[in-house]
Amino acid sequence: KNGVVIVGAGHAGVQAAASLREEGYDGPVILVGDESELPYHKPPLSKTFIKDQEAKPQPLRGEAFYTGSTIDYRPGIKVERIDAAGQRLEISGGGMLPFDRLILATGSRPRVLPLPGVDLAGVVSLRSLADARLIRELSAQSEDVVILGGGFIGLEIAATLKAAGRKVTVVEAVDRLLGRAVAPVIASHVRQRLEASGVRILTGTTISRLEGENGRVSAAVTSSGERLPAQMVIIGIGVVPNVELAQAAGIAIANGIRVDQQMRSSVPEILAIGDAASYRHWFTGADVRLESVQNATDQARLAARTILGHADAFAAVPWFWSDIGDMKLQMVGLTSGGDSHVVLGDLGENRFSIYHYAADRLLGIESVNRPGDHMLGRKMLGAGFSPPPQSVAEGPDGLKAALA
Ligand code: FAD
Repeated sequence: KNGVVIVGAGHAGVQAAASLREEGYDGPVILVGDESELPYHKPPLSKTFIKDQEAKPQPLRGEAFYTGSTIDYRPGIKVERIDAAGQRLEISGGGMLPFDRLILATGSRPRVLPLPGVDLAGVVSLRSLADARLIRELSAQSEDVVILGGGFIGLEIAATLKAAGRKVTVVEAVDRLLGRAVAPVIASHVRQRLEASGVRILTGTTISRLEGENGRVSAAVTSSGERLPAQMVIIGIGVVPNVELAQAAGIAIANGIRVDQQMRSSVPEILAIGDAASYRHWFTGADVRLESVQNATDQARLAARTILGHADAFAAVPWFWSDIGDMKLQMVGLTSGGDSHVVLGDLGENRFSIYHYAADRLLGIESVNRPGDHMLGRKMLGAGFSPPPQSVAEGPDGLKAALA
């Protein structure tokens, strides 16, 4: 028996290994990852790790987990090729690794920007612990930091480095922050608070080139010709899924490795989960590829069940969080396509939630420093319960009672 091989030891891959054991799988479980560390939590990297020279990475599971659950974790190994018909992998260094079932948990990588000067030292992006260590090191030598991209990662880093005493400028190409990920009222609230904390934000602005001195970045020049001094430039303009391995093996790709409701790719013995996988979402009926810890871990649990012969379909409630300075953003549901909303709480107090509706159906809730609404939303959406907008306006107590 060759067992299950998991490619990628991030949030999805490690959970898949754990869930296989929890579900009672007793064959070999081999977890192959191209990073050299014990698998770690990514979210703290942009929120705390880069501002604290002493911070330690937070392992997803302790070392004892791998030995205790007989999970064969193989760090520092890159899978180079999948032989789908022969059910084996070619790994870096030239070896072959056979499998009965394969789980692709290859994640995503930062989108690169074709910009004059991107190869200068001091131009970085943040995905891995190695990236975070480099940013931390560069931050100690930088007074001015320019961040390209006003999405979650860019803004988290902006708030974190501002708190560490750097002069931070965020440059965003479109005319608002956070793309279409959150409602405009949240985006402008975040902008206002970040600016009040001293972060400079330029929307509707692109960078036309980066300038350097002796091979190191020294400035970013905007489309309008302003020269922004920078000893570090961080590019945070989104990610692309790591699909090349699957694609070269002839597996169907559609903005990600395409999977069905049981996480099976177009080759049924090969499953895909996490940032790299795309699928039709049960909640909206739309094709999605979600980039969140929740999506990665819930898909991992389901993939393990599929391998053990269960046929339940993916039905987890989508949720996400982001900490930007003193704002804890929490999102539950998928709110695109909403046509009305109800606001609870107080923007001035930095504590409010937006309940999004399409007709009379609750699509989701976006909260700033109101974790109670978020938890309630997870329960309501999980139970298929959609309270009428009028009862939301009366506050959460009635909703809790109706749900109980
Ligand atoms: P990953 O965790 O990226 O793991 C994929 C792994 O596969 C990587 O280690 C990669 O090196 C490896 N790999 C790829 N190809 C190969 C190969 N050929 N051979 C071997 N190994 C390979 N989400 C939230 O919900 N909330 C947050 O607050 C949040 N904050 C974040 C902050 C940062 C700085 C980052 C980078 C991400 C954040 N995310 C957050 C997103 C979240 O971390 C991802 O959605 C999650 O990591 C996806 O898990 P994954 O296992 O699919 O991919």
